[in-house]
Amino acid sequence: MKKKIINGLGKYCTAGTKEKPLVCPLNGQRQQNNYQHTPMQYIEGDPKSAIWIVGLNPKFNNNNNDLHFRNSQSLKNPLTPNTHPYFKPFLRVSGELWKKDINGILSANFAHTDLVCCATEKFPPPPSLLTKPEAELVIENCKPYLIAKLKQNIPKLIIGAGKRTCIELVKTFMSEKDKTGILLQNKNITNSHIEKYHIEKYIEGMTQTTLLIDEKFEVPIIFSVHLSQSNYWSDRRLGREIEQVLGEINYQNLP
Ligand SMILES: [Zn+2]
Repeated sequence: MKKKIINGLGKYCTAGTKEKPLVCPLNGQRQQNNYQHTPMQYIEGDPKSAIWIVGLNPKFNNNNNDLHFRNSQSLKNPLTPNTHPYFKPFLRVSGELWKKDINGILSANFAHTDLVCCATEKFPPPPSLLTKPEAELVIENCKPYLIAKLKQNIPKLIIGAGKRTCIELVKTFMSEKDKTGILLQNKNITNSHIEKYHIEKYIEGMTQTTLLIDEKFEVPIIFSVHLSQSNYWSDRRLGREIEQVLGEINYQNLP
C-alpha cells in the first residue's frame, strides 16, 4: 500500500500519496482564514468520548466561535449546548448525549467532527465558489482525515448526520461479508460498482448498521438526517434508537 502523507502537513488540507498528492480546493481559503488547527485536530469535545457525531462540514456563522479561530486545545473544551447552534437540537434527542457536572452545568457526552474539515457557509458550496467536481474533490481529499481520526479513537457508537456522510462511512468501512452479499445479489456488478452505485441502494430502508473500523472493531452507526432538517418527533426517534443501541452494547452514561 502506498504511504499516505496526511499527517505532518500542518494546517494544510492536503491528502493523497507522495506520488499523487491531492490538495483540497478549499485549502486556499483555509490558508487565508489562518486556521489555528490541522484537519487531524478537528475533533470537537473529548476525542475519547464513546459516542461520535459525524456531520458533513463545519459552517462559518460569523461569530467568534467560528471554527478557524479555534486551536487544538479549545477544540477539546467540553461542548455545551451554547458552543454552536448546531448542537442545540441534540438536547432533545436524548439525555444520554449529555451530562451534568456537580454545579448543574450541561456538557456533551459526545465528540463531533465532520466528513469535510474546511468550513463553508453551506456544502456543497455555491457554484460561484466551487464547481461540482471540485466539491467532490473536497470530499475525496478530506475523507482520509476522518478515516484516520476514527481509527485512532475507535468510538463505541457513531451517529452519521446526513446521507452523504453515512454513504461515505459505509463505503469505507463496510465488512467483506456485506460486500460479498451485495455482489451475490447483483451478479453483474464488480467491487468498484459497489463503491460507485450500490452503497446507496444497500443502506436504503436501514436506519443502522455496523462499520468495521480497523478490521477488528465493529462499531454501530445510526443514520440520521441533518438535525437542522428534523423535528421533535424525529429527534426523539433518533434518541430512542441511540438509547437502544447503547443498551445493547452495555454502555453506561457514568457521571
Ligand atoms: Zn479540506
